[in-house]
Amino acid sequence: MKQLVLIGAGHTHIHILRNAETLTQSGARITIVTPETGHPYSGMGPGLLGGSYRWEEICIPVQEQAARAGVSFLRASARSVDPDARVLTLGDGRRLEYDVLSINIGSDVAPTASLQDHRVYRVKPIANLARLKSDLIAARSATFGDAAHLQTTTYSQTATQRRTTRVAVIGGGPAGVECAGNIAYLLHTHGIEASEVTLYSRSETLGRMTPERSRWIETFLQSHRVAVRREVVTSSDDIDADFVVLASGTHPPETLRDFGLPLGPGGGLAVNDYLQSVDHANVFAVGDCADFVREPLDRVGVYAVRMQPLLFDNVHALLREQTEEIRRFTRTGPYLAGVNLGFGQGLLYRGRWDLRGRAAFRLKDFIDRRFMKRYLL
Ligand SMILES: Cc1cc2nc3c(=O)[nH]c(=O)nc-3n(C[C@H](O)[C@H](O)[C@H](O)COP(=O)(O)OP(=O)(O)OC[C@H]3O[C@@H](n4cnc5c(N)ncnc54)[C@H](O)[C@@H]3O)c2cc1C
Repeated sequence: MKQLVLIGAGHTHIHILRNAETLTQSGARITIVTPETGHPYSGMGPGLLGGSYRWEEICIPVQEQAARAGVSFLRASARSVDPDARVLTLGDGRRLEYDVLSINIGSDVAPTASLQDHRVYRVKPIANLARLKSDLIAARSATFGDAAHLQTTTYSQTATQRRTTRVAVIGGGPAGVECAGNIAYLLHTHGIEASEVTLYSRSETLGRMTPERSRWIETFLQSHRVAVRREVVTSSDDIDADFVVLASGTHPPETLRDFGLPLGPGGGLAVNDYLQSVDHANVFAVGDCADFVREPLDRVGVYAVRMQPLLFDNVHALLREQTEEIRRFTRTGPYLAGVNLGFGQGLLYRGRWDLRGRAAFRLKDFIDRRFMKRYLL
């Protein structure tokens, strides 16, 4: 019986879980290794922060899905791989042998050495946004006299006395913009009017957009009590805030260095046209943790989702030793991107087309909920 091991419950692997029966019927035994029992969908993460969604609406129940599909679930992190011996070692030292390995472990927020203190919330993993939300709400309760919350929050005593909640969001990319808008929305809906939300951006927000769209977003944020500052933050001393949100870009996890596989220029696992490691055909890597050698791809969930059917088919072919059936990944063209700005508003765009305001939020909400419907039990 062939052993398929999946590392990480990212966007691409959840498709394999959903269709695992086809693989097990052809004689494979499947194991998924992931540190959490559920996988929060990042596209709805900012909406969770702003209060548009509940945790259950955005979190894919991976452990339950695995149980239903007859897939072994191991709650653990992968620590290292020996690709020649075909052995994976887990964080707790356990070792797993595999015939085919697939890696979908996402990316981390780029570390900023001087911004390491307790007030900092990184935008990944997405669970941090849930923690930030409850800490912001707890801080509000503390401000209005519920002293018990002070035990559980990072909110400072001086802030309590000042009765102002100051939040700094560092990074003017999509995640930073979405978090800033949704924090302002959360504070607004909880009656925390005495708040200061500041978005720090090295250049224009969403610098890769057209300048006109970028200006529209900045105007939207400013009219919803978010100050936008073109400043580079290098240390905590540069900002005066009770909560700091770090959205300064993502990079593949450092752990990949211990996977014994070649890395690409972006620090991800170098994969060929078939999503296979460039020097081990029985190892696949997908999503943010992969560097697609033929052309660099943005680290966005859209690509991890586009890789779903191809990864499934190629893994299936390899498990059946039908290597002639393996196909190339070709879906690298333009994609629909969108930001949820809070207050039930957003911006969706693809090439020269865009949609703004409430209609954009509604369409993004429809697309995201439709995606989740496939994976919620
Ligand atoms: C706030 C925010 C909003 C975003 N919104 C969008 C959006 O609207 N559209 C879009 O296209 N992109 C969006 N992105 C980008 C998107 O989150 C990523 O591109 C996407 O999550 C990548 O998917 P993935 O499948 O590669 O990995 P992930 O979805 O990050 O999944 C990785 C999985 O691997 C697990 N894992 C990590 N390390 C290990 C390990 N050592 N061993 C085992 N398991 C491990 C994790 O627990 C997780 O389950 C957003 C990002 C952020 C931060």
